[in-house]
Amino acid sequence: MRLSRYFLPILREVPKEADIVSHRLMLRAGMIRQESAGIYAWLPLGLKVLNKICNIIREEQNRTGAVELLMPTIQSADLWRESGRYDDYGKEMLRIKDRHERDMLFGPTNEEMITEIVRGSVKSYKSLPLNLYHIQWKFRDEVRPRFGVYRSREFLMKDAYSFDLDAEGARHSYNKMFVAYLRTFARMGLKAIPMVADTGPIGGNLSHEFIILASTGESEVFCHGDYLEKAPPPADVNFDDAAAMQALVDDWTTLYAATEEKHDTAAFAAIPAERQMAARGIEVGHIFYFGTKYSEPFNAKVLGPDGAEKLLHMGSYGIGPSRLVAAMIEASHDEQGIIWPDAVAPFQVGILNLKVGDSAVDAACADLYAKLTMAGVEVLYDDTDERAGSKFATADLIGLPWQILVGPKSLADGKVELKRRVDGSRELVTPAEAFERLKG
Ligand code: ATP
Ligand code: MG
Repeated sequence: MRLSRYFLPILREVPKEADIVSHRLMLRAGMIRQESAGIYAWLPLGLKVLNKICNIIREEQNRTGAVELLMPTIQSADLWRESGRYDDYGKEMLRIKDRHERDMLFGPTNEEMITEIVRGSVKSYKSLPLNLYHIQWKFRDEVRPRFGVYRSREFLMKDAYSFDLDAEGARHSYNKMFVAYLRTFARMGLKAIPMVADTGPIGGNLSHEFIILASTGESEVFCHGDYLEKAPPPADVNFDDAAAMQALVDDWTTLYAATEEKHDTAAFAAIPAERQMAARGIEVGHIFYFGTKYSEPFNAKVLGPDGAEKLLHMGSYGIGPSRLVAAMIEASHDEQGIIWPDAVAPFQVGILNLKVGDSAVDAACADLYAKLTMAGVEVLYDDTDERAGSKFATADLIGLPWQILVGPKSLADGKVELKRRVDGSRELVTPAEAFERLKG
């Protein structure tokens, strides 16, 4: 992508309304724009990161055997009357009337809808286990939307719903998601710690929140310091092996880790003092097992192997991709701006033309741009007529992992500068070497 043809509305001023660094940087880097309180437009650069996060989530969900579908954002109130949650959900639910005066709502979550979908078409235990997920916009009329997309009113959620014949099967489904979450967050370069959590309005009695430690986190959390050194499960774990899944979950839950609501001071005090971590955290995912809480009111049953009808056992599993964009910036930035991990960077490489109009520089940039693009590398080529200083600032602000600085002086010696964003290190290399290093 040529920057001159892109849409990257960079803000030079630090926006006053933003209290935390991720919000400031997302506004300054032209990733989002507020449309009303807690409602944001995703501009091209922000959307690119959001999509990459969604794709990692998708790959890891699919690896477990979960199947993607897409449910609507607008739901009928009757569905929620069936579960009894229409009144319970309170003011967080945005309620709407259509032209026929029917009560509708903007979905805050989808337990009701998915149960209704499955009830209509799954009749036998032979169709189980089943896990259906979608990645869809949610609306919750939060009392205090703040911190940009970290706590917004409209936000993206990956929500998966598992269906099993009995509690044992449901536990396996829960464990699969637990393991998938460990892998998902690790692939984004995040250390997310599974913590025993409250179930809130979703219900049930088994639940973990996946929390990233950050000083700007909204939750108070307590855990064993060893969590920060644990390696995530490998890609080739066998998700169908119930015992292996349970062993992994046991391994990740024997050390103490709990959110404030579930905090047990005695258990925490038993951790060696130097390993006790009381910190603030950002919730990026939350998983629940709630048995027959929704299948009961919806009368969602299947025929078991013995011919008897059984209520489905369910769980639900959320991740917030839009919040994750902010969380990743909270975890990875410096004075100059964002530092994207390779896996979610909007572009892998930035080419900075430091003297537009100089025919040698223009040609070297165009050549590198063409070759890298042909090799499948995502490149943002800064071909604008901005000053060099402003190009450096933009490239650092938007946090691309690699920058190639092309200026007349080094080019006269046949060299360009290769800069790594994460540590600012620079190296003089030939354009051919730069290509070799970045092409894969
Ligand atoms: P919170 O406690 O932060 O309000 P929640 O427990 O209500 O979140 P869940 O129902 O568990 O949220 O939703 C699943 C995931 O969706 C959360 O783990 C979070 O990543 C994301 N999420 C929830 N609410 C918001 C929001 N207002 N803005 C952005 N992401 C959100
Ligand atoms: Mg939650």
